[in-house]
Amino acid sequence: MRETSQPLDVPVRPTLYRHPHGISAVDAEYLYPGHAAAHIIVDGGRAAFVDVGTNSSVPYLLAALPELGVAREAVDYLLLTHVHLDHAGGAGLLMRQLPNAVAVLHPRGAPHMIDPAKIIAGAQAVYGEARFEHLYGQLLPIPPERVRVAADGERVRLGGRTLELIHTPGHAQHHYVVVDEAHASIFTGDTFGISYRALDTQNGAFITPSTVPTQFDPEQHIASIDRMLSYRPESMYLMHFSRVTGVPRLAASLKEQIRALADMARRHAGASDRPARIRADMLALWLELAHGHGCRLSDGEIEHALAGDLTLNTQGLIAWLHRLKDKALPS
Ligand SMILES: [Zn+2]
Repeated sequence: MRETSQPLDVPVRPTLYRHPHGISAVDAEYLYPGHAAAHIIVDGGRAAFVDVGTNSSVPYLLAALPELGVAREAVDYLLLTHVHLDHAGGAGLLMRQLPNAVAVLHPRGAPHMIDPAKIIAGAQAVYGEARFEHLYGQLLPIPPERVRVAADGERVRLGGRTLELIHTPGHAQHHYVVVDEAHASIFTGDTFGISYRALDTQNGAFITPSTVPTQFDPEQHIASIDRMLSYRPESMYLMHFSRVTGVPRLAASLKEQIRALADMARRHAGASDRPARIRADMLALWLELAHGHGCRLSDGEIEHALAGDLTLNTQGLIAWLHRLKDKALPS
């Protein structure tokens, strides 16, 4: 197996987005441009990545550092919001290039980055072996002495700022978000949904929740959104895709959609063709919402933009139905 789909010494041109308060996003070049953003926070000459993409993203991330005036030695942290591979798959490879970096992980996520066997098996179950190899290559473990386990509310010092890490289950049990309270910003991983810039309109961002396998839980998810709102953030930095503002409107839409998707799943729980039915209902909801939001793309273009999420969200909702059923059975 190849170690990375892209040798580290081949020059690449990173796409950088510069945001306020020393925050930048670099396109992780996962699937297609504009899909996944790794964030870099720079403060007082020190830097942290928030999520890193896959092995293929690593050359872009390394190339972004000199553009931001950051030496590899100045990177103190990889803040990995959760261990889904589009967020953390490249962490082991990237750590080898950043001599002073520590990977910070949720207690439930840390063991899987030290020994990635289980997440490899889990992702292969979702994607199949060939697609897994194509998307993620060979996952490298992170040495345990370079992993810091973050309790709920843990504080991390970066240059002159303090970042608070809070546990936010709902998208995944092993998820935390990074609160930069002094700058009214939260780095949300996948806990504040997905918002592609291609679906922006004059009314602002269009957002959808991510209910992917295997730990989606609607009640926990809504509680985690409310917990983030309690900090009154003005900017949310999403992996898919970077900065959104107008947080109260987006939060209300996310919570409404999470309830609607859970209802759809329950409604079709007994159907023999439930994946097709859930997907069709989800698409109908998203088309209605996107058009109501002023999106001028055709139905086909909107479906194309959201195709991957329709598939993964459907799989995640079905996994959730299975867990509900298991819980309901007498022990
Ligand atoms: Zn995720």
